[in-house]
Amino acid sequence: MAYNDDKSEDYLFKVVLIGDSAVGKSNLLSRYARNEFNLNSKATIGVEFQTQSMEIDGKEIKAQIWDTAGQERFRAVTSAYYRGAVGALIVYDISRKGTFDNVGRWLDELRVHSDASVVVMLVGNKCDLDNIREVSQEEATLLAQNEKMSFIETSAMDATNVTNAFQSVVKEIYRVVSKKPL
Ligand code: GDP
Ligand code: MG
Repeated sequence: MAYNDDKSEDYLFKVVLIGDSAVGKSNLLSRYARNEFNLNSKATIGVEFQTQSMEIDGKEIKAQIWDTAGQERFRAVTSAYYRGAVGALIVYDISRKGTFDNVGRWLDELRVHSDASVVVMLVGNKCDLDNIREVSQEEATLLAQNEKMSFIETSAMDATNVTNAFQSVVKEIYRVVSKKPL
């Protein structure tokens, strides 16, 4: 969804959160949108997306950020979820190697359902758990380079890089979209 209203020159971008269950997708979004963190959050039910605004080039840019509503537990994220997405954050947990090993699978699914120009960021969440880290920054950087994604480590718990991650994706989408006719 790359929507541009001629009069106001505002933009609305759909961005999706994907990745294995319990990597922290919902907490990243609640930290970004409401500055909230939940230590014992259950799989997401309810709210499907949050809209956040930011300003770039004097224009109001709205990011409609979609959370999976727990669908990923059943490996059944629907095509409706991906429809119209111009950006994606693929999240894994740096303390659980298996969640990193599945990044390729999420990437494949995303690419089946979206435009080739979709902006993708690889997000290694829970970087506060460095003492039990199972995924090095080096291997994640390498994967990101090979797959033409940007890469960032975050902690929804202590708020490290959370705003940075979402805003970088939105800025990159704006850069891509503002260069091509809508
Ligand atoms: P989702 O299934 O991907 O949406 O994951 P949730 O946001 O529901 O988080 C799953 C669990 O991981 C919860 O118990 C959170 O408290 C915890 N969690 C999420 N983000 C972080 C983080 O940055 N650091 C730590 N230590 N725990 C986190
Ligand atoms: Mg969730």
